Amino acid sequence: MTLHRKNLIDGEWLGEAGSRNINPSNTNDVVGEYASAGPDEAKQAIAAAKAAFPAWSRSGPLARHAVLKKTSDEIMARKDEIGRSLAREEGKTLAEGVGETIRAAQIFDFFAGETLRLSGEMVPSVRPGVGVEMTREGVGVVGIITPWNFPIAIPAWKIAPALAYGNTIVFKPAELVPESAWTIVDILHRAGLPKGVLNLVMGKGSVVGQAMLDSPDVNAISFTGSVGTGKRVAAASVEHMCKFQLEMGGKNPLVVLDDADLAVAIDCAVNGAYFSTGQRCTASSRLIVTDGIHDRFVDAVKERLDKLVIGDALDAKTQIGPVVDQTQLKQDEDYIAIGRQEGAELAFGGDRLERGTPGFYLQPALFVGSNNAMRISREEIFGPVANVIRVKDYDEALAVANDTPFGLTSGICTTSLKHATHFKRNSEAGMVMVNLPTAGVDFHVPFGGRKGSSYGPREQGRYAMEFYTTVKTAYTFAG
Ligand code: ADP
Repeated sequence: MTLHRKNLIDGEWLGEAGSRNINPSNTNDVVGEYASAGPDEAKQAIAAAKAAFPAWSRSGPLARHAVLKKTSDEIMARKDEIGRSLAREEGKTLAEGVGETIRAAQIFDFFAGETLRLSGEMVPSVRPGVGVEMTREGVGVVGIITPWNFPIAIPAWKIAPALAYGNTIVFKPAELVPESAWTIVDILHRAGLPKGVLNLVMGKGSVVGQAMLDSPDVNAISFTGSVGTGKRVAAASVEHMCKFQLEMGGKNPLVVLDDADLAVAIDCAVNGAYFSTGQRCTASSRLIVTDGIHDRFVDAVKERLDKLVIGDALDAKTQIGPVVDQTQLKQDEDYIAIGRQEGAELAFGGDRLERGTPGFYLQPALFVGSNNAMRISREEIFGPVANVIRVKDYDEALAVANDTPFGLTSGICTTSLKHATHFKRNSEAGMVMVNLPTAGVDFHVPFGGRKGSSYGPREQGRYAMEFYTTVKTAYTFAG
């Protein structure tokens, strides 16, 4: 049975469900049909969120706690079903889909707790008899624009803090993954959100997203996606003096030193570079390896890649699902061709794979003999493609790791406390991993990067408060 899903605007499900959502593991499988809003519906949603803000922002913390806790509980109770649906529409494996769903439940639970932990400060004024209070208030209408690669976790880590701190929302998910977005909104709506507090506006980025950027009534925009769109968000936000937060690409280095535990390094490289089909902004796409371990490392990675099961995301045996769609597949294949033209050697994979169903299957690709000036080392590919850069020692590895326009995550595999400590201090990334994959983070601590990867306050954990609240300083003379 084909699902038909509408947008949620001012507490009503509206719009014709006409836009098809295809399963990338089997393009004959239509997940559902979804409403695709125009600019007028985006405007209605913004107006509804604006109207709902005064009451919601002044609601007691228990009202907000109740909705977030109920949402967490329902997501957790339905984790297998929601995780499966996520895997079906995005192409990540069942285990990854269920894992991501559990993550979303944990995030809602965390921010349910945060509603009860809001605090302020009170200090004496420099003027005798005057008290000064510093409190945090919601920002207003928050526009949430999300990508397709984490269809439920990224919306959760933006929606949960936005609601917890009293904001109202216009949520525009990526076109490729509307079912996960619809599901989370449906759960929140039924959990008791007042009308207008959360509006779902599915549709094209250039239409719905752009309408959000053009509106003077959106007070803050939290965006995750490409660098190009991120720059548009930034420019439009400045025009309206709208607060904004951007999470964009990565070209994350994983350094492997001679003294690394080889098994740990292989796990980190294969997981970091290829799991979730390499479609994570935290993926390790540059494997920077010192001379003494280089050949053993490359052989072992190839051996591991050869054993990976690539197939239908919904098959429990699958370890790597398909690429998300035809456009992304073409981008991956184009970069594989570019790497070859640039003189890198394709040591493994890179071919299209045939499976029992028509889908976007690609064999993980590993380049060796690459250098850091090549386009495959500098531009985000966002697929199961990584390249090994051979370096002579730790100092060169660190220099190469930092020589990038991005700065989201970085990693090092070493048994040297000295090098691990130096790397943590000197890596120009927002998140640094020692003997762990560059992808895979906790939900209760800050997430974000530097340079071209991120802009604005961090997401997640208590640090999320910085973006989703504004500080008020109030002075009282008691007489
Ligand atoms: P990706 O490569 O991850 O798809 P995009 O930046 O294209 O990255 O998309 C991320 C999100 O931004 C999606 O929800 C998309 O629809 C939205 N988007 C795309 N273009 C615009 C735009 N002009 N204004 C606002 N949002 C947009």
